[in-house]
Order: sequence, then structure tokens, then C-alpha cells
Amino acid sequence: MSGILEGKRILITGVLMESSIAFHTAKLAQEQGAEVILTAFPRPTLTERIAKKLPKPAKVIELDVTNQEHLDRLAGLVKEELGGRLDGIVHSIGFAPQDALGGNFLNTPFESVATAMHVSAFSLKSLTMALRELLVPGSAVVGLTFDAQFAWPQYDWMGPAKAALEATSRYMARDLGKDDIRCNLISAGPIGSMAAKSIPGFAELADVWNHRSPMEWNMADPEPAGKGVVALLSDWFPKTTGEIIHVDGGLHAVGA
Ligand code: NAD
Repeated sequence: MSGILEGKRILITGVLMESSIAFHTAKLAQEQGAEVILTAFPRPTLTERIAKKLPKPAKVIELDVTNQEHLDRLAGLVKEELGGRLDGIVHSIGFAPQDALGGNFLNTPFESVATAMHVSAFSLKSLTMALRELLVPGSAVVGLTFDAQFAWPQYDWMGPAKAALEATSRYMARDLGKDDIRCNLISAGPIGSMAAKSIPGFAELADVWNHRSPMEWNMADPEPAGKGVVALLSDWFPKTTGEIIHVDGGLHAVGA
């Protein structure tokens, strides 16, 4: 049986640990027939070690999304590996300095806010444009958000950074739609990844799901989010763009 990504070439950022949403996305994408290339931050060796646990080999390219030299050389390196065509990009990148998280919202300096915005939101645009020449009609860009409609405990400046990511995705959808390139986000519930563990008091945030989620939510399971990303990369959402699909057990739909 052929998979829903058969013959597609997909670049996936954000594989750091086995707990990374991107790791599960890469695994599912390969199982569904895609050829996958990974980018790595902060060290390619870390990502290469985790990539060995994927069903098939995947080449790893170093990429700090705030480094213009890395962005400038990216398309050339991808072309060497996959040829001149790319069918999808997964943006699975988020970061905020410690003083922008954990209840320090009112005291965070702008430099830390700027870093959070640069890495977590602006990078959706810079990553996509670095690879724009390789994207073919029918291709898809998919990113990951944490519902920016609400102010969450401890999440602090990652909240406005995610709001910026969500708006950036809509503007990308506006500007790339004419070339038949889609841009969508998965809004995932809390997952115990490295990024989550770096948020002081993340357990308090995640606990909201224990009390309010219509469906049982397992923080140790990034696979549902990965499945959502793969679905949006596929041809099964051909006219969906600028959209945010919630993979959160339904919590976004209910009141307190
Ligand atoms: P993770 O720590 O496994 O992944 C975060 C990734 O961001 C890492 O791979 C890291 O290398 C990358 N990164 C950080 N700075 C970078 C830079 N300058 N250049 C390139 N890459 C950089 O955690 P995750 O939970 O898998 O996070 C992936 C995405 O999912 C993020 O956008 C995150 O905000 C989002 N998300 C996470 C949760 C959650 O609860 N864990 C919920 C909703 C959305």
C-alpha cells in the first residue's frame, strides 16, 4: 500500500531528541513514503545520533535559523542531496531566553523578546524563503504553535511569539497561495519535550489538560501532533491554507 507522502521530498527542522515532535513527524513521513532531510541545531552530531533511530537514513544539515550564512547556503545543500525539488518544509522550532519565561512577563527586557520572536516566528518566513526556489506547486509548509488565543500560566513571551507565528503563517498563505504553496500550523497540546522542560513551571501549564481536555491527553506522546503535520504535508488538504488545526484533545473548544 502506498503512503500519503509517496514520492515527496520533505525538509524537517527541529529533531533534537526522541521526544521532539519533529522526530515523530520524520518517522511518520518516512513510513508514509517521503524522502526526508533534516536540519540540526545546535549540533549536527546530536541530530545525527537521533536520526539513526528513524526507519530510513536521513541526511542532516546544520541550520541556526538566526544565522544568515546558514540560510543562504541551505538551498544549495538541499539541492545536492535531494535534487532541485522540494515538496514540503516542517518548521518545528521554538526558543525563548529564560528571562522571557516562567512568570517574568512584566520584567522581560526587549532583547529577550526579540530573540524569542526571531527564532520562533520570523524564522517561518526566513526558512521558507531560503528554500523558496526549490518549492514546487502543490507543496506545503507546516509549523507548530501552542494556542496563542489565551494567556497561559508560565508561557509568557512565548505566547506573543506564537501569536506572531500564527499571523506570519496567515500572511505567508496570502503571498504563496498564487504559486499553489500552502502554509498551515498544527496547534499541539503540551508535550514533555526539551523545549517544554526549559519552561520553568511547565507542569502547571500542562496540568490544565488534566482538568479540562475533553479527550485524555498524554504529554509523553508526540505522535498525534506528528500525524497532524504529515496530514497537512499530504495532498489531502489541497485547498487548505492559512489554517490552524488543533491537535490538543479538544481543549481549545471548551470553556472553563
Ligand atoms: P524540541 O525541544 O524537541 O524542539 C525545539 C527545536 O527548536 C529543537 O530541535 C531546537 O534545535 C530548535 N531550535 C531552537 N533554536 C533554534 C535555532 N536558532 N535554529 C534552528 N533550530 C532551533 O521541542 P518540541 O516540543 O518538539 O518543539 C517543536 C515545536 O513545537 C516548537 O515550535 C514548539 O514551540 C512547538 N510546540 C511544542 C509544544 C510542547 O508542549 N512541547 C506544544 C505546542 C507546540
